[in-house]
Amino acid sequence: MNAARTGGPLSMKFRWFRPTWAVALLLLVLNTGYAQAPQPKGAGVQGGILPRSWRPSDPYCSTKPEFQVHEYNQDFYILRESGCSDFEKPFLYLLFGREKALLLDTGSGKTDVDRVVKHITDRWSSRNNSKTIPLVVAHTHAHPDHIAGDAQMRALPNTTVVTPSVSGVQAFFGFRKWPEETVTYDLGDRVLDVIPIPGHEASSIAIYDRQTGILFTGDTLYPGRLYVDDAPAFVRSIQRLVDFTKGKVVTQALGNHVEQTRTPYMDYPIGTVYQPNEHQLELGRAHLLELSAALSEMQGKFRRMAMRDFTIWPICFARIDPDSKYWMGKSITDPIEQERRIISGGCGENVPLPW
Ligand SMILES: [Zn+2]
Repeated sequence: MNAARTGGPLSMKFRWFRPTWAVALLLLVLNTGYAQAPQPKGAGVQGGILPRSWRPSDPYCSTKPEFQVHEYNQDFYILRESGCSDFEKPFLYLLFGREKALLLDTGSGKTDVDRVVKHITDRWSSRNNSKTIPLVVAHTHAHPDHIAGDAQMRALPNTTVVTPSVSGVQAFFGFRKWPEETVTYDLGDRVLDVIPIPGHEASSIAIYDRQTGILFTGDTLYPGRLYVDDAPAFVRSIQRLVDFTKGKVVTQALGNHVEQTRTPYMDYPIGTVYQPNEHQLELGRAHLLELSAALSEMQGKFRRMAMRDFTIWPICFARIDPDSKYWMGKSITDPIEQERRIISGGCGENVPLPW
């Protein structure tokens, strides 16, 4: 029986407590509102929509592989390469400012990236009543699965391709103190911050788009295997990203692959084409902080560590053979076999560790 209905001394206590609970609830509501107050209305950045999931590649690759083009908003497009073009299935990013467009990466293997990008830039130009907008092609880093379409892009009119190397990136963006310095690059009413983050690869950069609050992190942070080639440089780069983003609005951290499944701590095997249950692409600053904390807990003894949404993975590829596709020796031409050897440690047997 309910004590309050009996009218005994307990019901007196309940009556006395009711207003206290109401006040506590009100305070909680007010406090929640206050906590959100500093960044109302989407934090003042231009919003957009990411897909709930990306279309998986045809499991049998019986159809012609195409990029999946997603319009985040009318000035920002995401291109996802099909696994049937190349198992790496990288993401490419296309941002429009008032004077220039920027394509970040050109994909892996053989694709029709030039045709697809031109189609989007032509449509954007006609929508905005302008002549064809000049295009700059830069890269998150110089690995082959991010630069394969460079030659095709160079052949397009009104297009500048940044040379994918440390010196090429330094010269184009005007770095004087690489990698400590952050520089800006303006697409016309759209300022980007360019942050050097060597470690995965020597010429790795992150880009922060002030307009959308998106941080592009390349292969340095994404839901997958974070291969670290130069550990001391990587640790400093992550710290640089943590410092840079402090106090800034970071709406999304977008890397260039998805290798994780939706099951925590579980990734797809190397070479997987069909990923119907893949992890979402977008991460946030919390993942950056998680990565930073994991690195500092290692206290200089760098090692492989699986986290919920990504794995830190020391490798050694740059010191083997910089001329081959994955720096695995010219005799191994199968990219899946190359990557298998990289991650199994077979490539590092005679290589001194960098830490
Ligand atoms: Zn990559």
